[in-house]
Amino acid sequence: MLIKKAKSYGFCFGVKRAVEIAENSQNAVTLGPLIHNPLEIKRLAENYNVKFVNSLDEINKNIKRVIVRTHGIPRDRLEKLKEKQVEVIDATCPFVKKPQEIVEQMSKEGYDIIIFGDKNHPEIQGVMSYAVHNRVFVVLTPEELKNIKLKEKIATVAQTTRKLTDYLKITNFLIENHKEVRVFNTICNATFENQDAVRELSKEADIMIIVGGKNSSNTKQLYNIAKENCESYLVENEDEINPEWFKNKKLCGISAGASTPEWLVEKIISKIKDVT
Ligand code: SF4
Repeated sequence: MLIKKAKSYGFCFGVKRAVEIAENSQNAVTLGPLIHNPLEIKRLAENYNVKFVNSLDEINKNIKRVIVRTHGIPRDRLEKLKEKQVEVIDATCPFVKKPQEIVEQMSKEGYDIIIFGDKNHPEIQGVMSYAVHNRVFVVLTPEELKNIKLKEKIATVAQTTRKLTDYLKITNFLIENHKEVRVFNTICNATFENQDAVRELSKEADIMIIVGGKNSSNTKQLYNIAKENCESYLVENEDEINPEWFKNKKLCGISAGASTPEWLVEKIISKIKDVT
């Protein structure tokens, strides 16, 4: 049986970069877990002594370095962190930094700011905190815009993981109803690249193995796409691999969720090779 990996799977650029930063930072803490994968968090703690704290209050004088996660933190929390006289290592993804910078610049120029996204998501809480005025509105649908009295100058950005087609509904509404709209496409394609790749591979494979957390929504999405096209299984570790699955199969496709490290994917592949 042949084993083939999807063209794009696993860690995105921003997460890969954050993990590398953590590995090179040794003896640091992250503000919240770096990624949603307990095995990877354990590996960073055991091999690099990089642990995590849940709040600023837990940062005491024994902690010398603090890593900011990929989706960034609100500006006032960053300031408070700096006051604690720790070395701040910023692993905010550059694709998240971009909307932060745009919101800061456009608000300085007097534009009302519309952010398309979930106001409770840490990335959005960070992005909105960069406005220098309070005319920042976070919306998910054009209907919500109808209730907001906006000025003539409007700038808009999107949460990095949102769908472009949904963002277009917001931007179309704004353009139809206002004179000056500055639209910034801040959507990151990483999630969609993994989804497109799993769709493509599952059409040619006889079986797909998706590696990742069973509670990870992006991993479940990959699994749902795969099982539309062929027999598919979602596994968290190599012990879940069942040799029966591979009987009479010619091509096994592999994909992994955005928080699944490469070493775990390789472990699964070698287990499949062992049992087939
Ligand atoms: S913005 Fe894109 S590349 Fe950056 S962390 Fe998020 S999904 Fe990954």
